[in-house]
Amino acid sequence: MRIPCPFCGPRDAHEFAYLGDAGPKRPDPAAANAEDLFFDYAYLRDNPAGPHRELWYHASGCRRWLVVERNTLTHAIAGATFASAAEVESEIAADSSGEGAR
Ligand SMILES: [Zn+2]
Repeated sequence: MRIPCPFCGPRDAHEFAYLGDAGPKRPDPAAANAEDLFFDYAYLRDNPAGPHRELWYHASGCRRWLVVERNTLTHAIAGATFASAAEVESEIAADSSGEGAR
């Protein structure tokens, strides 16, 4: 599988690290129902069969975070863009908390 990095060009997937779904946003910890929101955020993830937006880190390249649109059935990649800071920070916080569903 080759991932089209917007900076480096098409590269083998082994140069990248997969983080997870690019869709969920980290809940506000000050919300009244924060415990329920964090449970849903950490454990109730979709597992779609088809198009999926994912966060990938180009570890052996430009060291940028990308949002890759990949079909989970065929592994065909429709495109990749640089991820926003908000998208990355939200997922990294969830992943490092030990509550990730991966
Ligand atoms: Zn790159």
